[in-house]
Parts: sequence; structure tokens; C-alpha cells
Amino acid sequence: MVKLFNQFLNFIFPPTCPICGESVGSYGMLCARCWSGFNWISNPKCFKCGYPFPADLDLGPTPMCPHCAAGENDLDYIRSACVYDDVSKNIMLPFKHASALKYQTIMSRAMINAIRDLNLDVDIVMPVPLAWRRLFKRGYNQATLLARPIAKHFNAKLDVDTISRKYKPDMGHKNAKQRRENVRGVFKVLNPDKIRGKKILLVDDVMTSGATFYELNRILRKAGVSAVYAVSFCRVVHAI
Ligand SMILES: [Zn+2]
Ligand SMILES: [Zn+2]
Repeated sequence: MVKLFNQFLNFIFPPTCPICGESVGSYGMLCARCWSGFNWISNPKCFKCGYPFPADLDLGPTPMCPHCAAGENDLDYIRSACVYDDVSKNIMLPFKHASALKYQTIMSRAMINAIRDLNLDVDIVMPVPLAWRRLFKRGYNQATLLARPIAKHFNAKLDVDTISRKYKPDMGHKNAKQRRENVRGVFKVLNPDKIRGKKILLVDDVMTSGATFYELNRILRKAGVSAVYAVSFCRVVHAI
């Protein structure tokens, strides 16, 4: 019945690529040309934070980037679907600022794919919180829009109110150390009983230096969670 209904829907509203409008096989798919324009992250990559290494490097089964090797990343795993570049920026920025909801499915699906091979056991999916002032201005948290289908995929609880975030002015183009200092102390666990002993997957649209994930990890561990994973749609990749 559902299949029949889908066929009917495909007939009335043929599925199209949300970027270029080309017809595609099913809803929420990109056409082959747009798909190939993205810099999707595959192996080899840092097994802790997902930092992509050049394709021709053979680094063994569990390669680690210098940051993770230096103990700077205490999350269990971080993954991102693609590199932040002009192509990913072109869908991420409208999604963040202009409610371009047509990208929600392709972004969240790409994120689910990026963590598939980790076979994670997730209790709670938590979008990176926005300060209420930003939420009020924008009307929605773009990370929540991505977290909702991801929570559904894991059959996990979507949690948007256990952590609050203090408003701080934009960080601009700061280096990793300054970003870390800027985000320190902005999050607060309002209800530790809800998350103690749980495995938590953090969700954001973009990872810049990782400072936000690191700080959330710090306060979540303090609140007694048992594992912290994070996934973003894209990530800024600097040469290391
Ligand atoms: Zn297309
Ligand atoms: Zn790493």
C-alpha cells in the first residue's frame, strides 16, 4: 500500500535533485553530477576524529591524526560526511540561515552514512544547542533539524533541553586555541539525571576546530555519560 502510494506520489511530483532540479530515482537523493561535486570523506581517515588523510597513504587499520595522538580529543568518535568547501557551503549556509529545508534529507542521510561503519549503540541524540537569543532570532536550530532523522534512525531519544548555552558574540576567524577559550563554560547541564550513564551522539551542521564538541564532551563526561560521539555534515580541513 505504501509502495503504491509512493508510486502515485512519484507520478504526480517526480523526485528531483534539491540542488539542480534534475529528476532522480527517489526523494532526498542528489543527482550523480551534484553528488560527485562534494568532497565526501572516506578512508583513510583518523579513526578517532575522522580527519581525512590523502588517499594514497597506507596508515594501517587505525590511523590517528596528530591532535588525537596528542590526547586533545576525548570524544569516542567524531565523523563528518564531507569537507567544508564551496560546494558544501552552498547548501549548508542556506540551510542554516534561510530555512532551506529541501536539503535536510540529503544532509542527514549523508551523516548517517558517515557513522554507519562504527555500528554505534546510541541512547540519546543531542543537537549542539544554540543560545536562546540566536534561536529566537533564527526561529529554529539547524542542528535539531539534522538530529531528528538521525535520532529516528538510531531509535534513540532526541534531547534538546538538557543542555543550555550562554550567548556569546560571534567568534569570527579565530584560531583553534581562541575558539576553545571562547566556548569554555558556555554550556550547562540542566538535568544530569537524564543523561547519566547514557551514550550520546552530538549533531552539528559544521565542525570548525572541534572546540564546541570538545567542550560539550567535557561537561557531558562530568555529568557521568558513558560515551560521547559526534557527527557533522561537513568539517573544515586544515593541512596538518
Ligand atoms: Zn543535481
Ligand atoms: Zn584525529
